[in-house]
Amino acid sequence: MRAVDIIESKRDGESLSEEQIRFFVKGFTNGDIPDYQASAWAMAVLFRGMDSRETALLTQAMAESGDQIDLSGVVDIAVDKHSTGGVGDKTTLVVEPIVSAGGVPVGKMSGRGLSFTGGTLDKMESIPGFRINLSMEEFIEQLDRIGLVLSGQTSDLAPADGKLYALRDVTGTVPSIPLIASSVMSKKIAGGAQAIVLDVKVGLGAFMRDLGQARELAQLMVDIGGHAGRETVALISDMNQPLGVAVGNANEVREAVETLRGGGPQDFREHAIEVAANMLLLGKRDPDLERCREVARETLDGGMALDKFKQLVEAQGGDVDTIDDLDRLPRASVIEAVTAPQGGWIGQLDAREIGLTVMELGGGREMKGESIDHSVGVDVLRNVGDRVEQGQDLYMVRANSDASARSAAKRLLDATQISDDEVEPLPLFYQRVPEG
Ligand code: URA
Repeated sequence: MRAVDIIESKRDGESLSEEQIRFFVKGFTNGDIPDYQASAWAMAVLFRGMDSRETALLTQAMAESGDQIDLSGVVDIAVDKHSTGGVGDKTTLVVEPIVSAGGVPVGKMSGRGLSFTGGTLDKMESIPGFRINLSMEEFIEQLDRIGLVLSGQTSDLAPADGKLYALRDVTGTVPSIPLIASSVMSKKIAGGAQAIVLDVKVGLGAFMRDLGQARELAQLMVDIGGHAGRETVALISDMNQPLGVAVGNANEVREAVETLRGGGPQDFREHAIEVAANMLLLGKRDPDLERCREVARETLDGGMALDKFKQLVEAQGGDVDTIDDLDRLPRASVIEAVTAPQGGWIGQLDAREIGLTVMELGGGREMKGESIDHSVGVDVLRNVGDRVEQGQDLYMVRANSDASARSAAKRLLDATQISDDEVEPLPLFYQRVPEG
């Protein structure tokens, strides 16, 4: 079998066999198939697609490309969540402590920021001392002891996905439904998740721009989960505007802790409760989703989720005093308001552009492995549909030089549309798959 024949088959729109898919994944993982052939193949998949059989086979081959974790000896039901990536998406920081405090232990492996989207590991590293590179033994011991872990993914877990993802990021082949579905689900399956809640983002700041594509992706991942014997639910949520107020690493930790204290922006709180409730449901905390929402609210408002978060920070070597005194988080030296040039209704706050602004301030990476500035960010002070008057604050920029603050302010204004006509607010969620 030759890699070039498999590339040509896909280029010509043929359906690949199990043997071809396994050959390609194995060859790429062990280095026999070079990056240029894998890139050509990924581009062929992006244009020609894959049917659900091929996608399920690709997922399985990638999940089996490295270690597979079995958490059944540590927890009753290993529940995990995954977001397809967004701007201001600090959901994991609040959801995992809620679920753990609600009685369902969670051990999660997260990623770093990618392109304009943020990453949980980068956010957590804003907390001085917090370690994300736990060994497998440490991961399991901590999950058993405190019921909560937030660590980086070991390179032995679905290594085919790690390699392919890095390549897709620089070859314009990220937004392919079968490639995203297999990437997400292979990691979750290899990580030992028995039940999975997927947060599928749709809109300007997401890889899926329209609802039809998001539905297709959600259904495909739910089907893959079902075939692999993992109960899977997908929530399709809005990512036209950033989630909550804060964007940027330390900034998002601040907002997550405020939310864990029972405050925080209403949209973010509601989003976190919904995702957590679905995890509690799949973790068999209660068979009724509405009662799971109540459990989530109680753990937030009763301070149990905040206590759990502190336990997590302490267990992974972080400075717990930071959680009580958020001024200890990295702070930017220039904090400047961006005001509305005219009155009207907010018609658009382009989440992608806002994410790119934070990247340009130094809060994200242009190149893999670059160091980032945890202190910079943007506060998005309005939502789509809000009425504003000329001169009122729209954003707060957190920068480390006057020049970068000015450039960010300009970019943010370009990302904002103010309409003379009234604009409907955006929904938080569009659909649950399966419905109910
Ligand atoms: N998140 C992933 O883990 N993989 C993708 O391909 C896209 C988003």
